[in-house]
Amino acid sequence: MPCIFCEIVAGRIPAKLVHQDDEVLVFHDINPQAPTHLLVIPKRHVESLLVLEAGDDALMGRLLRVARDVAVQQGLGPRGFRVVFNCGDDAGYSVYHVHAHVLGGRPLGWPPG
Ligand code: AMP
Ligand code: ZN
Repeated sequence: MPCIFCEIVAGRIPAKLVHQDDEVLVFHDINPQAPTHLLVIPKRHVESLLVLEAGDDALMGRLLRVARDVAVQQGLGPRGFRVVFNCGDDAGYSVYHVHAHVLGGRPLGWPPG
C-alpha cells in the first residue's frame, strides 16, 4: 500500500494545498475537526515520531515554524490554535507519515477526549 501522504506529495492524490516549499507541504484535512484543520507534513517520508533521529531535528523544527506561519496566515493568531502530533494507537495515529495537525477557529477542549 502506498503512503497516502507520499501520494499527495507526488500529486497523485488531490489535496487542498495551503503551503508548499522544498521540504514541507500543508493542506486541509479531509475530515476537519475544527473550522480550520490543516496538516503539516515533511515531503520526505518519516513514519512517525518514534523513528526520529538527531538528523531530523531541523526538519521537525521547520514543520513547527511552518505550522505557526500557516496558523497566523489563516487568522488564528489572535484567538489561538493547537498543534498536535499523534503517535500510536492510543492517540489514533492513522496515517503513518509524520504530520502536525493545526486546529483552530473554535474553543478547543482540554484535556482531549
Ligand atoms: P492521524 O489520526 O493523526 O494519523 O491523522 C491523520 C489525518 O489525515 C486525519 O485527520 C484524516 O482525516 C487525514 N486524512 C486522511 N486522508 C487524507 C487525505 N487524502 N487528504 C487529507 N487528509 C487526510
Ligand atoms: Zn509517506
